[in-house]
Amino acid sequence: FQVFLAPITGSENDIGGVLSVFHDITTLQEIHDRQADFVTNASHELATPLTAIKGFAETLLDGALEQPELSEKFIRIIHDEADRMHRLINDLLKLARLSAQEYREQIHLEAVAILPVLTAAKQDLSPRWQQKNQTVILKCKQEGLTALAHPDWLKQVIVNLLENSIKYTPEAGKIQLTCWQTDSQIKIAVQDSGIGIPAKDLPLIFDRFYRVDKARTRTAGGTGLGLAIAKFIVEMLGGHIAVESKVDVGTIFTISLPLSENRP
Ligand code: ADP
Repeated sequence: FQVFLAPITGSENDIGGVLSVFHDITTLQEIHDRQADFVTNASHELATPLTAIKGFAETLLDGALEQPELSEKFIRIIHDEADRMHRLINDLLKLARLSAQEYREQIHLEAVAILPVLTAAKQDLSPRWQQKNQTVILKCKQEGLTALAHPDWLKQVIVNLLENSIKYTPEAGKIQLTCWQTDSQIKIAVQDSGIGIPAKDLPLIFDRFYRVDKARTRTAGGTGLGLAIAKFIVEMLGGHIAVESKVDVGTIFTISLPLSENRP
């Protein structure tokens, strides 16, 4: 609590009482703390690849450049770490845009055909799942499904979920993209046959920078922001995202979106 005290004086300047005003600043303080945590985490995440870049560049300048094989190895590391920083900055920018109320207010929701969005996300990521010999099956249970959404942001959600499924599913694994309609909603599920998520971690995976296994997911190239962004977008679209998972069996993310009456 923040407390303000003011004396209440009488006509003869005698103190007749004290006016006390209590301000509940818990929520404000919490928001402030969360923002500070976020900045600390973001800086730390950016500093890690930067330290590696600087270290390997220094080693090259100190003489490793003379050895062609070593040089190539170090330059590749520098390139990959710069890539990681780039992905992180892009994700931070997406979050910043989505967090701005002004931006959210001007977003225009429209009738979006689901099948083309899923097809485009599958297509965009084809080099990755093909490289791992994985199969991505796409199936809509009814024809012509449309939701009230935003095509680019909806695609971003599917890309984030599909990227995770590819990352956390072994070679030759199976991934399914399914969509269907219920009485009042459009549902989209991204299901994989991957490593799964332990029950104790499930409530935390949508938090910014939360990773189940820091070492493993860092090498997989993640920023720790993919699911936070996905949840943010789905809720901005008036929908809901849920997850079910079993370790070593697989994971299903299910998105529910409002129906759109008119087709585009
Ligand atoms: P990252 O960039 O690390 O993948 P995300 O926010 O996308 O970050 O996901 C948070 C964490 O949730 C991941 O680090 C991973 O541990 C876990 N996770 C997300 N999707 C899956 C999945 N399909 N299978 C297994 N684990 C997953």
